[in-house]
Amino acid sequence: MSKYIFGIDVGGTSVKMGLFDMAGTVVDKWEIPTRTENNGERILPDIADSVNAKIEEKQCLKEDIAGIGIAVPGPVNEDGVVNKAVNLGWGVVPVKETIEKLCGVPAQVGNDADVAALGEMWKGGGQGFTSLVVVTLGTGVGGGVIVDGRLVSGAEGAGGEIGHMHVMDDEEEACNCGCKGCLEQYASATGVVRLAKRALAKTERASLLRDCEITAKAVFDAVKAGDKVAEDIAQEFGEILGKGFAMIASVLNPAAFVVGGGVSKAGEILFDYIRPSFERHAFPGAKDVQFVLATLENDAGIYGSAKLVLDTIVSLP
Ligand code: ZN
Repeated sequence: MSKYIFGIDVGGTSVKMGLFDMAGTVVDKWEIPTRTENNGERILPDIADSVNAKIEEKQCLKEDIAGIGIAVPGPVNEDGVVNKAVNLGWGVVPVKETIEKLCGVPAQVGNDADVAALGEMWKGGGQGFTSLVVVTLGTGVGGGVIVDGRLVSGAEGAGGEIGHMHVMDDEEEACNCGCKGCLEQYASATGVVRLAKRALAKTERASLLRDCEITAKAVFDAVKAGDKVAEDIAQEFGEILGKGFAMIASVLNPAAFVVGGGVSKAGEILFDYIRPSFERHAFPGAKDVQFVLATLENDAGIYGSAKLVLDTIVSLP
């Protein structure tokens, strides 16, 4: 009987590592730096060293470890091979095979947004739902789609890239992906700042936002303080994001949208701006959706990685 699972989340600057017991409780949590030089060739050996050191520290046998789950910022195929993780400097890297060889323990690999969604369903804001879309409003807009308890990541692993749904026809600036009018250009933290700067330039009206550094947080703080210009900005944000959610709902009919990322720190007030637009645009048969906040923050990835391992154990014959 195994005792532990490793849940690992590889980011561009640090690798978050968690040791879980079989009930899914974090026993230990730590970070190591991500060494991206030389096409990130040290990243997997560094992770393996850290895992092996922890196994020794806990005085465990390899048999005590049920598996190692790893979330990576790039598309992952069925064999656990990553195809281009730009933030890590990786081209094609066989993550599963490499970690299994270096650690002597089975490994499971997933895309970080997908894995974070799994974490939120398991231990976070999405608990109790089996069909849900986890939306991360951070620097960009990420998405993880779960239908009937299973991740949907698509033929090339690019499923759930909801930040790049086209929502605006007359946009002149390009998104990071090269297209124009992507959801992420309006609903990410940087997107909210863009909306705010445009709105402030268009009006002479007084606003708290004229005297501070404009961030997504500043915008929603100003909304809470009753600032009219900030309310208009929040309205525009909610109109666009609500429309995006309506499109997703008509394809997937999720029971919940779980919203996380930096912008979600504004709290439930976000939903006051998203819901009216969602209601107006959504297909009537798919309107019965709950909006909830994500709760795991930066730990969603390590939880989801541990869950990847647990799911493979459960599905064994
Ligand atoms: Zn885009």
